Amino acid sequence: MNANRIFAATTIMGLLPTLAAAQEPFDYEKTKAQYSVREYATSPLSESGYGYYQVAENAWFVHDDFENMVFFVTDDGVVVVDPKPDVSPFVLEVIPQVTDKPITHVIYSHHHRDHSQGAYLFPEDAILIAEQDTADLLAVANDPKRPQPDVVFDDEYVLETGGLRLEMKDLGRNWHSQDDIVIWAPEQKILFAVDMFHPDAAPWIHWGESSDPFFAFGLPDLLLSQYDFNFVIVGHERIVGTPELMQTYNSFIGDMEQTLMGIAQSEWFQTAAQEAAMRYAPDATHYAYKETAMIAANACATQMIEKWSGRVRNAPLNMVENCQTMFMHLIILDP
Ligand SMILES: [Zn+2]
Repeated sequence: MNANRIFAATTIMGLLPTLAAAQEPFDYEKTKAQYSVREYATSPLSESGYGYYQVAENAWFVHDDFENMVFFVTDDGVVVVDPKPDVSPFVLEVIPQVTDKPITHVIYSHHHRDHSQGAYLFPEDAILIAEQDTADLLAVANDPKRPQPDVVFDDEYVLETGGLRLEMKDLGRNWHSQDDIVIWAPEQKILFAVDMFHPDAAPWIHWGESSDPFFAFGLPDLLLSQYDFNFVIVGHERIVGTPELMQTYNSFIGDMEQTLMGIAQSEWFQTAAQEAAMRYAPDATHYAYKETAMIAANACATQMIEKWSGRVRNAPLNMVENCQTMFMHLIILDP
């Protein structure tokens, strides 16, 4: 046997268990127990730099150390969602391991570079889909790695292809960028709400760079009541989001709201705010105002870190900034 034939034989043998595994019926509880837990978030990655697992009968979740993407295998081809530059090369390696079908569709989640600059890596004849706002922002970016979509929709769009149904929807307000959409796969019970939260972790700074924090605070309630999902795909982390993990995030939001309201109504805070105002000259109102906000933010962070350390990862990391943002929106600006 020459070297090439040995290589070909081992490649085929290497593929066999994967293809066989793909035929096994999908087990939701088993997947949840294995892949939506903290142990998996901190487990070592294989040498390939990526891992992947099924999140429905015909849907695969591909991740590197911190980001993820999902693709669906339909009767006619493969539909890829959220073409990230870092994960797309791995998705292109995984697809031929589970199917020999061509990639037919690629869907943008929003225009941010870390979610869209992998689009150019996919076949040119795959149909690129995006919301109008995303298309407009991509036109401004004029970036060859983020080509203009072939299909553009305004409020809602349903993709039906090869037995797969994907419902895309603009909720009217954004939680993270300027062009967020939710994508719902009713049969697979998979919901995409990209960059809405980090499963099993405290929020990233300023509520994940939220463009509309007040809408973001109410989003988990809205999604939990409107969608009966098995998994929620948020694009980051190697673990997959579940209703339980979104519920925990929702409790975190509710707890911070209560904590801040308690602080704002407390006597010690009123006194501290008056003392801060007296320390500054009459023309330094902004300084007194900022100090008051920071007194509330720091007290909130201290209480929240104590309550949430261990319950979520990264509890101390961004707590002051997140308390500050919520203070501004809850007490001063919104609704
Ligand atoms: Zn983003």
